[in-house]
Amino acid sequence: MSIADDLLRWFDVAGRKHLPWQQQRTPYRVWVSEIMLQQTQVSTVVPYYQRFMQRFPDVRSLADAPLDEVLHLWTGLGYYARARNLHKAAQILQQQYQGEFPGGHEQIQALPGIGRSTAGAILALSRGEAHPILDGNVKRVLTRFFAIHGYPGTKSIEANLWQLAESCTPKERVADYTQAIMDLGATLCTRSAPRCGECPLQAHCQANRDRLQALLPTPKPKRHRPQRNEVALVVMNAQGQVLLERRPPSGVWGGLWACPQARDKQSLQAWAQQRWPVQTDIEWQALTPIDHAFTHFDLHLQPFLIKLFQSAAGASDSERYRWYDPQQPDRIGLPKPVISILEALSDVS
Ligand code: SF4
Repeated sequence: MSIADDLLRWFDVAGRKHLPWQQQRTPYRVWVSEIMLQQTQVSTVVPYYQRFMQRFPDVRSLADAPLDEVLHLWTGLGYYARARNLHKAAQILQQQYQGEFPGGHEQIQALPGIGRSTAGAILALSRGEAHPILDGNVKRVLTRFFAIHGYPGTKSIEANLWQLAESCTPKERVADYTQAIMDLGATLCTRSAPRCGECPLQAHCQANRDRLQALLPTPKPKRHRPQRNEVALVVMNAQGQVLLERRPPSGVWGGLWACPQARDKQSLQAWAQQRWPVQTDIEWQALTPIDHAFTHFDLHLQPFLIKLFQSAAGASDSERYRWYDPQQPDRIGLPKPVISILEALSDVS
């Protein structure tokens, strides 16, 4: 009896079949869901996915949309490179493949933001083609089932897991199998407290037999997390609008709109003095500090508020700067900490 047989029998009875991306399974719909589900739970993704599909039902509508609108619909999901890559890949599909997904795994994998596992999931789930996948959930199931020790991010362990994933993937009912192994990892074979008693793989699972569930998968070797302190400047004009600056297209919050930010207060003071020499020569009001965890570092952000009392010249609307009215928000992408700062403004203004 293979893993696939056990999983498929379980899937028929207990598998999830009513998620929005499981309906009308096109490569496009599967692709968007797979990208959203990277690093994000199903329950969080569902409303984002529905709003996204309503606005961008196909490759063409996504490719034609302004990046600001794509980032706006992504606001709150985090890891914004995912949204920028979706947009870029949609434009490539539109220009090179008439808005359709190409047939080959390699061509799909060459698109921005699509790795081997996502390309496999798109083809397996939308076209039933036998390609293995190896996302976080599947890695957890396989490392436990086969008792694979060693951090799965290391090359040799990953290569071993790909081989196992390939050998477990059946030729028939590939879409159901793929959904089943992802579901098993998400619902039963969870990181902490897996429910082995209900698992269809328990009879042959080596981690279950040897009580290794808490040790596998082997965690990433711990490294010191860098801490970064920065200051943000919240400039409010006489109309109650707040100055936002567009971040460069790549890097942290790439393409999103945020308050001007720097490593120290002096740099921001010099920047503000240049634009509004008289009006910024006042006490800056310190707002509640914000802590935000990125993948590779922790950000401690100290925002300061200054209120301009004369006209808001000096940084008029342009590609780089815009005056943003929190009462009538534009459809643009904002990072979470900036949303928190804007929300907190109602308490101080
Ligand atoms: S028996 Fe337990 S550890 Fe093994 S695959 Fe099932 S849930 Fe995971």
